[in-house]
Amino acid sequence: MERAEESRLMNQSPDKLVLLAPLTGPVVALADVPDPVFAEGMFGDGLAIDPLEGRLVAPCDGLVTHLARTGHAVTLQTPEGAEILLHIGIDTVELGGAGFTAKVTQGAHVRAGDLLIEFDQDTVGTKAPSLVSVIAIANSDVFEIVERASGRVTAGVTPLLAVRVKGGAAQTQTQAAAGGAQAAQPADVEVQASRIVTLMQSGGLHARPAARARESVRGLQAHVEVHHDGRHANVQSVVGLLGLGAGEGATVEIVGTGRDAARAVEAVARELLREVHGELEETPARVKSPAPGQAARPSGMPLDPNTLAGVCAAPGIAVGTLVRWDDAELVPPERASGTPAAESRLLDRALATVDQELNTTVRDASQRGAVGEAGIFAVHRVLLEDPTLVDAARDLISLGKSAGFAWREAIRAQIAVLAHVEDMLLAERAADLRDIEKRVLRALGYANPAARTLPSEAVLAANEFTPSDLSSLDRARVTALAMAGGGATSHAAIIARQLGIPALVAVGDALHAIPDGTQVVVDASAGRLEYAPTELDVERARLERQRLAGVRETNRRTSRQAAATRDGRAIEVAANIATIDDARTALDNGADAVGLLRTELLFIHRESAPNAEEHRQSYQAIVDALEGRTAIIRTLDVGADKEVPYLTLPPETNPALGLRGIRLAQVRPDLLDEQLRGLIAVQPHGCVRILLPMVTDAGELVRVRKRIDDLARGLGRTDAIEVGVMIEVPSAALLADQLARHADFLSIGTNDLTQYTLAMDRCQADLAAQADGLHPAVLRLIELTTQGAAKHGKWVGVCGALAGDPVAVPLLVGLGVTELSVDPVAVPGIKARVRTLDYQLCRQRASDLLALDSAQAVRAASREIWPMD
Ligand code: PEP
Ligand code: MG
Repeated sequence: MERAEESRLMNQSPDKLVLLAPLTGPVVALADVPDPVFAEGMFGDGLAIDPLEGRLVAPCDGLVTHLARTGHAVTLQTPEGAEILLHIGIDTVELGGAGFTAKVTQGAHVRAGDLLIEFDQDTVGTKAPSLVSVIAIANSDVFEIVERASGRVTAGVTPLLAVRVKGGAAQTQTQAAAGGAQAAQPADVEVQASRIVTLMQSGGLHARPAARARESVRGLQAHVEVHHDGRHANVQSVVGLLGLGAGEGATVEIVGTGRDAARAVEAVARELLREVHGELEETPARVKSPAPGQAARPSGMPLDPNTLAGVCAAPGIAVGTLVRWDDAELVPPERASGTPAAESRLLDRALATVDQELNTTVRDASQRGAVGEAGIFAVHRVLLEDPTLVDAARDLISLGKSAGFAWREAIRAQIAVLAHVEDMLLAERAADLRDIEKRVLRALGYANPAARTLPSEAVLAANEFTPSDLSSLDRARVTALAMAGGGATSHAAIIARQLGIPALVAVGDALHAIPDGTQVVVDASAGRLEYAPTELDVERARLERQRLAGVRETNRRTSRQAAATRDGRAIEVAANIATIDDARTALDNGADAVGLLRTELLFIHRESAPNAEEHRQSYQAIVDALEGRTAIIRTLDVGADKEVPYLTLPPETNPALGLRGIRLAQVRPDLLDEQLRGLIAVQPHGCVRILLPMVTDAGELVRVRKRIDDLARGLGRTDAIEVGVMIEVPSAALLADQLARHADFLSIGTNDLTQYTLAMDRCQADLAAQADGLHPAVLRLIELTTQGAAKHGKWVGVCGALAGDPVAVPLLVGLGVTELSVDPVAVPGIKARVRTLDYQLCRQRASDLLALDSAQAVRAASREIWPMD
């Protein structure tokens, strides 16, 4: 192709961005680049050049967003938002910078044709496998190449590629990118300014002045550095500034270049000199732990020394060694499983998630008036986007490391820098870095490693366990769980019950003050944790554990038989499950059916929503494992306490009252449709009943039911599909008679019904003891539900935690519930409990108990009437 013709072609349209050749030499097709990473387009679409000269120039105007420390590669962002990667040679990172001289700095604004990197062709050519160099559009998902040159090209002269926004959305991209690029862009005019200041404020250049200094130059066209003791740091990098180790009384020089240099230097100086009231205490304002021995909450009953009170989340008693789970290391694999571009995106997403979490924390803290706490977490947000950290992580990602590994290494490198800083206060900032390291790793989906060596009897302690923490536990070694926070119906509690591990929640911060390795007795049923117990206490606990194991064994012997009250009222005892392993445990424990399959937990670790076939396969495997028993499968109940990473819904101020359960279909009908298609296809058809969560009225039910019928018809099903409704919001209980007209059955979710009736967050540790489903208000709603269902001859089950509470069982049976769906390991005990009851007595006494005025009164009366062994 003639050069004149190429130029004309590539310059014709205004929505096209023309990139000039960055090197002189013959053009090589990307597919012919002798490195599969480039050849397969993993870094994006582009072209290569076999360079004849050692000069890499800018192919267009742009901002240098990344310059490899080894000087072999550079990324430019154009004002249109295109990210152009320029990579000299193959495997040249291995040269460690030998032969390369960068002629620009990161953050510089360059013009087309400006020299970016000089390289010595001989040095590089002899040490690297190839000199062929790539120009690739790193965000090829947004920009596409519409024209490419061929033949020989000249650096800074020949148009090489024409690029445009995919789908022609050039306008929006241009505007968005231009806004972003401008803020970081230093001035074209080289103005210099500097000022020397002595840091008089306590703590010197610590995290908050650093964050404020960074903020103060936002929007100014200047590049500002702070120099101290032979070192210097970009003002954009809070960790860089901290690494200067400029403590109280230190003298620093602030140096600015660019059009607004003078203003920027003044702004930074102002922030570094500013004394802010209340800023002296830099330690994160985490709640102070009372000394062990102080009860986490006043329980009304004086506690013995060395004893903490908590709320029972899973019954039982255990002895073990306390292991602080929060302190466990998260160790991501070093090698990336995806391409550098994919890992980079994972990191971006994780950073955005953590940023959002921190934003909420800052907002909550500010609303509570906890200014210090809000300030600390605001700094954490700044650290998250610190260029020193993010760039170092990206460098490692470009070397084939996983996003998690890269982030961890980047943080560790900064922690190592801070470790050499003599100022104690600054060195302590390492704790903040560790904090954001963990948060980001968690957001990347890393849980504490299952392989962590635990003592043979371990009592794990944490502020709160996440479902992923619990799914990776070495069950054989964990005898109990203790959480400083959490609620009895949180998912961690539910999982603990499913695992049959005694668990305490809401123990309070005193839990954190018990040293790792202390022997403890956890009597979860009694809501107590005893640390450093006497030998006698340990002996007693072991005996009680043995006795309970004996009772469990006796119950298991009859658990495969159906349960009925002494006077012959049949009560189905089913299992709540979330996985195929749970299904096997359910069978093993004699469950009559599955009363609730929480499907969201099956899909919680994924990166994208499952399709219909994936849904079908998961449910089919579970139904097959159930050997003919029925399974009530609940449609996705995500939102509020059940976070699923791939649902990037806008943050809600009050998620418990937001788009959760069946309401999610209002904004994402596709998610529900895919799941329904999967459910409808499971064989044999009669084995699956569909359960809808968070229904508020009959209109909602009728709409979804119609959708189910339409989809079933489309899939060729003509038989009736059983559809039930969760009763978990007060409106559903109040309208149970209307719902029962259209539903085949009702299943009461007492966890949420309690939360919404009492207006007590089910995950709020401080309310854990009060958020009791035996509250008369909740019981009255349960009665309304059974009465409403009876009008239409429909049955009612309970699948919330109350069904598995032996104190509640007689009341539920008395109120007319005929199915109790409980954690698999609780099935034998609940069947045994049902067999001790007399239905007629339950009926009579239940209505008496509804007249009581508190949950405690109901509990006490129930224990009195129906004592337990
Ligand atoms: C409930 O709310 O009682 C229930 C069973 O659902 P989940 O605990 O999954 O919200
Ligand atoms: Mg619920």
